[in-house]
Amino acid sequence: MNKYLLVFMAVLIIGCKEEQEHIIKKKERIVVAHRGASGYLPEHTIAAKAMAYAMKPDFLEQDLVLTKDGIPMVIHDIYLDDITDVFTVYPSRKRADGRYYVIDFTYDELELLSVHERVNLKNNEPEFKSRFPVKSSVFRLHSLEEELLLIQGLNKSTGQNMGIYPEIKNPSFHLKEGQDISKIVLEVLSNYGYSTQKDKCMLQCFDPVALKRIRRELGCQLHLTQLVEELLTEDQIKEIASYANAIGPWYKQLLLEKNADGTWQIDSLVERAHAHNLQVIAYTFRADDLSEGQSFEDLLGLAFDTLNFDGIFTDFPDKVVEYLEE
Ligand code: CA
Repeated sequence: MNKYLLVFMAVLIIGCKEEQEHIIKKKERIVVAHRGASGYLPEHTIAAKAMAYAMKPDFLEQDLVLTKDGIPMVIHDIYLDDITDVFTVYPSRKRADGRYYVIDFTYDELELLSVHERVNLKNNEPEFKSRFPVKSSVFRLHSLEEELLLIQGLNKSTGQNMGIYPEIKNPSFHLKEGQDISKIVLEVLSNYGYSTQKDKCMLQCFDPVALKRIRRELGCQLHLTQLVEELLTEDQIKEIASYANAIGPWYKQLLLEKNADGTWQIDSLVERAHAHNLQVIAYTFRADDLSEGQSFEDLLGLAFDTLNFDGIFTDFPDKVVEYLEE
């Protein structure tokens, strides 16, 4: 065979391989384990992550908040009081608003807290009645680094390549407290091998100013998801497409009105985002948060067939993986 032909074929094969390795494949639906297998175990605990890993979603989610000593912890809120026993361990450490803040405690101090299923502070009742019992708490908080060690360790022992989907929480709050969470998180991610679009990591944030800065000023090459709280105009979509790869809307906002036959009139957000090459990965699908007479399968049909999402966040990754396999 002609040596130029050989080189040509080699380039072709390598090219195809790169295509296959791209983290988001076209026409494939992405399952993100929202806060781990949080439908079964307290959110963001190491146990919830290990369980989610075994359910074989595509990504595990990490919400990130900094400690007083600048360590990114995996926790959903800047507060500690609805998922830990902070008020019994550190009764005098609340702020004037009555809340306990992650950023007021060092990593070592946070390690003394026990973590439980989320409670509603207004009535002290569990947020989700059918989930893991609040009183059975054998869990601790952990850092982003600790979670990456778990995931990469499991990637080695199982031979899978589980992705990560970290979210930078409230960057403007952190800045007011004198901490640059975006910079710190990017450093940790880079130390663990997540720095280009080929690395199986999608970084997400609600704050567009912060996400733009992450792309343009901090030079981040990762896959970026702009989380959104409202339906977007054409100009907003265009703007997001200039720095991000995906949007993350709340699915309920796309359901405009119910027709007489039970089907939905939907917003064209997904179609319009796709036209700008943005993927749409929507939150949050819960088997224990359904409307009257709706099954989880109905809801997933709505998500994938009617709304045509490229992926979804779910507290029940096993059920969504099973649904997509069928
Ligand atoms: Ca999140």
